[in-house]
Amino acid sequence: MSFPFPDGRLFVGGEWQAGSGAEITSTFAAEGTENMRFAGASKADVLSAIDRAKTAQADPAWQRLKPHERAMYLYRIADGITANIERISWLQSRDTSKTRNEARALAGSAAATFRYFGAVLETSDELLTAPRGDYLTYSVHDPIGLVGAITPWNSPIASDAQKAAPALAAGNAVLLKPASWSPIISLELARIVEEAGLPKGLYSVLPGSGREVGNLLVEHPDIGKVSFTGGTSTGRHLAHVAAEKLMPISLELGGKSPTIVFEDCDEDLAIAGILFGIFSSSGQSCIAGSRLFVQRSIYDRFVSRLVKATEALKVGHPFDAETQVSSMVHADHRASVEAYVQTARDEGGEFLTGGRRPEGAEYDNGAYYQPTIIAGLTNQAQTCREEIFGPVLVVMPFDDEDDVISMSNDNDYGLACGIWSRDHAKCWRLARAIRAGTVWINTYKQFSISTPFGGDGASGMGREKGRAGLRAYQRQKSIYEDHSGQPHPWARWP
Ligand code: NAP
Repeated sequence: MSFPFPDGRLFVGGEWQAGSGAEITSTFAAEGTENMRFAGASKADVLSAIDRAKTAQADPAWQRLKPHERAMYLYRIADGITANIERISWLQSRDTSKTRNEARALAGSAAATFRYFGAVLETSDELLTAPRGDYLTYSVHDPIGLVGAITPWNSPIASDAQKAAPALAAGNAVLLKPASWSPIISLELARIVEEAGLPKGLYSVLPGSGREVGNLLVEHPDIGKVSFTGGTSTGRHLAHVAAEKLMPISLELGGKSPTIVFEDCDEDLAIAGILFGIFSSSGQSCIAGSRLFVQRSIYDRFVSRLVKATEALKVGHPFDAETQVSSMVHADHRASVEAYVQTARDEGGEFLTGGRRPEGAEYDNGAYYQPTIIAGLTNQAQTCREEIFGPVLVVMPFDDEDDVISMSNDNDYGLACGIWSRDHAKCWRLARAIRAGTVWINTYKQFSISTPFGGDGASGMGREKGRAGLRAYQRQKSIYEDHSGQPHPWARWP
């Protein structure tokens, strides 16, 4: 089964129009072919989208909607995604080379995100606070206005939904810039948003270069908040721009997450979880468990079992139902992973498996890379400090709890952590001691839209998801209402 690609027009302030910016090419890296080319957004397109968004967001008809009325748009978008899940996930697989199963799961999670934030909106209460005088005090939440959303290529539809759903629920207009390597699915989502009847102008999708379109969204004085997911160096740059404007920005950035295996773990569970944690999505996952610490007493046996299990993974075409590890998103990205593998070699890493492209005619044109496990490096090696964003795992032994806490935390990133042990009290101690936005105990890479997500340190700031996710796109306002009817005593009114 195949589906038509979008027609290459952009969704600018509620209108479908040809872009007037630089050309964008979407590729199917698994086969080394092109999906489509089209003109991306220019500065003029972005400015026009911003103008239309301002008008649409300020429209009293949108402003006055009650929460349960605004929530209906989110439910309709969720229904639209669900009704089109095969088409959306097919396009997502073509755009990113993700397996069909993963693409379906991401589309399902996007629908759930819109549904969840519709429900959060309907059920969020404003706060009556304790007065300290003869007045009523309450605290209410208003929309920020215009929100810029900038997303990466690794899970596009889920990242788009994670920003668009709470931002629209909060009453804002959203201007979304998808990554240049994965523009298709964001344009598809725009079609669903349009079909859901969202008033024109409240949603725009502006594929285009990060430096031009992305930067303009962050710099523009009318944009009141930016929600960014992407690399740490880009995030750091955008944080500077936001600081200059005194604009709130949330940053979901990279990771180099530790996974810790104690001698008392269930080894079968741990091996399955570790494989999923690092090699699913071909390792192109911010929360990939890319540093593995194994207790020295079981190190040799455990690592040799892990290597064997890794070699049994099926590397293959994203449309093959048996495939576990698919092509990387783009040949250029595989080149960057290969450069890191070379660094690991130069640092004296011992390759237990992988470290090369898979061999065979079926892989020749695609951007495949063999799941790779490297030993013999210290936690200080560049390979252990920097995010590779590919199917590359480094294994290191540890002796005791203190040892592994200190090695886990000795890294700039603080996104996620996995702990494998049957001792609950020990897991609890570790979970509290390790600097990470998310800790998984005896599981890995599980997500719930109702559970806050984000990173610390070089992994970013702010949290998405959860009930508070809505508030991240609102301004809080406190109101004092005097009921005494008396002049203020300070004035000594006669
Ligand atoms: P990236 O290069 O930082 O790009 C992310 C987005 O920012 C893209 O849309 C990109 O546009 C845009 N961009 C680039 N330079 C910009 C600039 N100067 N101003 C404004 N926007 C700019 O990251 P990526 O390679 O796409 O994504 C991989 C990274 O995302 C990894 O580090 C991964 O860990 C991180 N990530 C984090 C999370 C999380 O939740 N913590 C989730 C997923 C991914 P172009 O595509 O046009 O360059």
